[in-house]
Amino acid sequence: MTTGEKKERTARVVVLGTGGTIAGRARGAGDNVGYTAGEVSVSDLIEGLEVPGVALCAEQVANIDSKDMDARVWHALAARCVHWLAQDEVAGVVVTHGTDTLEETAFFLHEVLAASKPVVLTCAMRPASALVPDGPQNLRDAIALAAMPGVQGVTVVCAGTVHGAPDVQKVHPYRVDAFSSGDMGPVGYIEEGRLRQARSWPTTPAGQARESMRKAALAVSWPRVEIVTSHAGAGAALVDLLVREREGGAVEAVQGLVVAATGNGSVHATLEQALLRAEAAGISVVRATRCAFGQIVPGARHALRDAGALSPVKARIALMLSLMQG
Ligand code: ASP
Repeated sequence: MTTGEKKERTARVVVLGTGGTIAGRARGAGDNVGYTAGEVSVSDLIEGLEVPGVALCAEQVANIDSKDMDARVWHALAARCVHWLAQDEVAGVVVTHGTDTLEETAFFLHEVLAASKPVVLTCAMRPASALVPDGPQNLRDAIALAAMPGVQGVTVVCAGTVHGAPDVQKVHPYRVDAFSSGDMGPVGYIEEGRLRQARSWPTTPAGQARESMRKAALAVSWPRVEIVTSHAGAGAALVDLLVREREGGAVEAVQGLVVAATGNGSVHATLEQALLRAEAAGISVVRATRCAFGQIVPGARHALRDAGALSPVKARIALMLSLMQG
């Protein structure tokens, strides 16, 4: 290289496909809802996509509607993230995903990956066949973020906004800007391929992530954790049934219960009594607020422990990981 000549830096980004609306196809270009998710391959999604200074490669991990997401796909996805992040030449990983359970997959990866490089999940609210699809721009933004030096942890990019995995929630069933980070606010914004950062990257301590990953990788089957909701007229029948099932020695008996509690973690008295019986029978019980914003504020002592800022679906994942045998 002669003096004054600048060597163009090329960052390698791996795009892992799991399906979703971003890979969905409808019969007509005007149809944004009557489509089948997970129809287009991830190689086709990156075809022709040019992000300056980035070399892309793609791998299909699954091609499903994310409403059907399960432990098997999470297991495979986490393993591929670990594999690619360990390669020196890889700057970051992008995961294309459906919006319905995006926050769950993001939180799961956040818990099991000590990601000192970026893992960026992205999605679309309109299928690839739409007249004006949102997927290509989201994917471009996610790739740009994954290629940036200094970016860390598991994030979600949608509609120009970067959300941290612990805070992100789908809050709208139709709008292209379907996600919120609640009270915490986004980590940043992507504008013309550049990042405007608002707060620090979400990371999990390496030792904790390694331990969760080790348990998730070793577990033959993941502990069954169910969510029950506290609401007006909530009863005890469902929880009592799960306790009976467990006491009867059912093969996949429930090991944990998350109660989607009202307001600041309150639970209907009848349901609460049933949950205390469940705890006495050896089932782990956690309260998480049903509210979209805020977190359970510690106050008077409650008989059941709470999940703090975690939503019920994220509290379920945290409880599942904590119940896994090492
Ligand atoms: N049902 C779709 C999915 O989650 C919705 C979407 O991607 O927007 O895969």
